[in-house]
Amino acid sequence: MTQSIYSNYPPELSSAQQKFLVTAVKDWAIQNGLAVRPSPAIVANESNPNGVLATNAPVTLFPSPFPRTCFTEANALQEVYNKLYASITCNEEWLGEIVKGLIEVDDFVSNLWKVHLAVQKEGYVQNLALGLFRSDYMAHVSSSGEPALKQVEFNTISSSFGGLSARVRQMHTELLTSPPGPSVNYPFHPLLNSEVPPENTAVETLSSGLAAAHEAYGVSKSTPTLPLCVVFVVQATERNVFDQHALSEHLKKVHKIPVFRVASVDILEQTFIPGDNSARPLLYRPPQSPDSVFEVTTVYLRAYYSPDEYTSSRDWDARTHLERSAAIKCPTVLNQLSGCKKVQQILAEPTGLDHLSSFLKDVDSSLVERVRGTFAPQYDLSPGSKGRELALNPVTAMNHVLKPQREGGGNNIYKADIPEFLQSLPESDWKGWVLMELINPAPNAQNVALRNDGEVLRGDVISELGIYGTILWEDTGKILHNNQGGYLLRTKGKEVNEGGVAAGFSSLDSVLLF
Ligand code: ADP
Ligand code: MG
Repeated sequence: MTQSIYSNYPPELSSAQQKFLVTAVKDWAIQNGLAVRPSPAIVANESNPNGVLATNAPVTLFPSPFPRTCFTEANALQEVYNKLYASITCNEEWLGEIVKGLIEVDDFVSNLWKVHLAVQKEGYVQNLALGLFRSDYMAHVSSSGEPALKQVEFNTISSSFGGLSARVRQMHTELLTSPPGPSVNYPFHPLLNSEVPPENTAVETLSSGLAAAHEAYGVSKSTPTLPLCVVFVVQATERNVFDQHALSEHLKKVHKIPVFRVASVDILEQTFIPGDNSARPLLYRPPQSPDSVFEVTTVYLRAYYSPDEYTSSRDWDARTHLERSAAIKCPTVLNQLSGCKKVQQILAEPTGLDHLSSFLKDVDSSLVERVRGTFAPQYDLSPGSKGRELALNPVTAMNHVLKPQREGGGNNIYKADIPEFLQSLPESDWKGWVLMELINPAPNAQNVALRNDGEVLRGDVISELGIYGTILWEDTGKILHNNQGGYLLRTKGKEVNEGGVAAGFSSLDSVLLF
């Protein structure tokens, strides 16, 4: 089944059909905010000096087939995964042991840990933390031919594309079902004529998490009391703004919560903590209305996940300033650190202490085993280890990817490059990396993508499914809100190793279940 579904999908397009779909998709994208600001590589800064232009997000013309069993399983496990990462974040001692192993080889992890230690020394004033997570998977095809859900990584900071992925699902659904009556938008194919992509509730799910945190913050800690708001901390050069606006618009319109965007470089200028208030509320003065002051209940980070965002000690001061405030952080520094690839590797260790079960003590053991079933083999590179052997041997390296403790794409080393890369590093630095076996998705999948420079690419593809989840918890481990829903499908050329949409490797897609 897995093979046959892909063998004639998607149907061939005549040039008239392709022209029609490309026009329909590029217009739909702008009309409905399925858009990004173009990178200077696509539109040179001289042609766009005021940054007014937007273009379609890279997107597939067809939804991609995805095995229903894997999709259902990924959804079924998300709330347990939410719990797992909340539970890890609450165990500062366990996380600290892992971080200690990375500090001497990884300045970024070390600096994040220092922020935590500084705030811990002074004393945290907020015992709630919020996670907006995305668990990424591929449908691995084993030798038996059956697809199995395998996790690529778990994201605990700036999990993006919830807003745009919901729009892709809407676009594919409209193409499949309109005009009223039989659709003539796509050529005939049994899958296209029988299915529409499942509902995508990513915006509702992620917004519900932010709204739950806003609510749980309680009343203003200022005297006299101040109006409350949520702040999105964003990168000053962010191009994926419409994805973020989808969430802030939903929060404003549906949840009636004021939302502001503050660039990370402006945090110390536009927000402050009154020195005479031991509750340390985070106050925000909008530059467009300098007489207004809001108290920030929740800080949602769509920034601060990559070392190149911290160009000076001022950026670290800004991060510390947010962390020590009474605002609920999404994520806290500890929660960000729980998303290290090293944590994922240790959870996946087949022998030794069963960390997974101890973090999920109150979860049914069969469910814990299903979570474990999504782990692909991962290894550390300690002397004499299996990981070291697999990474240095050019034959076995071909079936692996080498990952550092980073987010956001473009940091991994793949296959044949691994042995030489490792040899180029001092051996003492190897402990900052983990080796992961490659997941092998369906070999014959194809699709057609409209890139954001207008190029149309058809070819063999690999799809990666992300499931969104949100959880609000107390540092005691008590959970106040745990919810899952909504998905991201990213599809890339089969020969491409990396996977990010923003990084220019993948296109946004939606799923047809089979
Ligand atoms: P990042 O945090 O930079 O997003 P990921 O672990 O998600 O790092 O890796 C980036 C991309 O590399 C993924 O989107 C995926 O396409 C590919 N990749 C990572 N791990 C694997 C794996 N085990 N098997 C196949 N592809 C992988
Ligand atoms: Mg990733």
